[in-house]
Amino acid sequence: MWTQNNMNSEPLGSGNSTQQKSLSNLPVPTALNWHCEAVCNYDCTFCYAPFEDQRKRSRLTSQEGCKVIENLAIAGIQKINFVGGEPMLHPHIQDWIRYSKKVGMTTSIVSNGTRMDGQFLSDMVGHLDWLGLSIDASTDELHALMGRGLKGEIRQGHSDHLNRTKFIVQKARQLGFGIKLNTVVTSVNVDDDMSDLVRWINPNRWKIFQVLPIKGENDHMPREFLIDASQFSQYVERHKMTLSDLSEVEVVGENNDQMLGTYAMMDAQTLVYTNMNGHYEYSNQSVLDIGFSKAWEQVNHGFSDSEFLQRGGQWNWDRKYSISLPMIQGGDEQ
Ligand code: SF4
Repeated sequence: MWTQNNMNSEPLGSGNSTQQKSLSNLPVPTALNWHCEAVCNYDCTFCYAPFEDQRKRSRLTSQEGCKVIENLAIAGIQKINFVGGEPMLHPHIQDWIRYSKKVGMTTSIVSNGTRMDGQFLSDMVGHLDWLGLSIDASTDELHALMGRGLKGEIRQGHSDHLNRTKFIVQKARQLGFGIKLNTVVTSVNVDDDMSDLVRWINPNRWKIFQVLPIKGENDHMPREFLIDASQFSQYVERHKMTLSDLSEVEVVGENNDQMLGTYAMMDAQTLVYTNMNGHYEYSNQSVLDIGFSKAWEQVNHGFSDSEFLQRGGQWNWDRKYSISLPMIQGGDEQ
């Protein structure tokens, strides 16, 4: 476990530079994806975050997670994105979102939408800046073909994913969250037209990903699911054209090359990792044990700051709420 001394030896990250310096003067990223929950209740065929081995390990306590979050902020992480597995399945997700905001970070979650009810969303006002939803297709028939649905639904050959997520979109808009839409493009949905759905959702940012093979994670995915960079580019350009009148929706496409080596990630046990070589490369020790800066030094050769910037990783994520917020309660966080 790191000590209070070495936690205090780094300044809180609040500047606009793309990276902060770590203890050893190596740069650390400004944005981190925390795959805080390894378990997922969906069955997406292309999933590159199944984390089968991690599912057997015990979860962090709320307090351990808060200590890690505090250390991330001190190390210079400005934006934390809670992802999974399915992050909403983690019992402490609300504590950690609140605490991340309290220590000054921009907060974001990417979820399949299950367990995101009206109560959760109301409780997160003022704590959660960005709500990201994974929606891959304009119909649930396509979702079912991609496995994007609850495991029980997919076993029966259908998905109710769109119905669930549309409710969340409506509620999230009312409450003033920034909305991110994430779409993975495979051979199944490459010809789909998402224009009407995207118009209806009206996200601040639509991230479109080329389906990504990761060695040891989604080897089971049928090769037929893959598309090439040119097919992917056509999907992105087609939608950019049909949505060109929506100036407030930022459409961002990321092909496989752009995704590799441009994400700083942390797993549920707080090992940090990167994916530059098409597989996950983990630190030997966890952030919980040695702090982020030292753990990051073990893997930072797998992260390219310039390519992170090139793919638009440092976007304008500061959130100004468009509604008046209820008073933020203090003192309940650890
Ligand atoms: S919802 Fe996300 S984590 Fe779950 S199976 Fe689908 S892609 Fe994987």
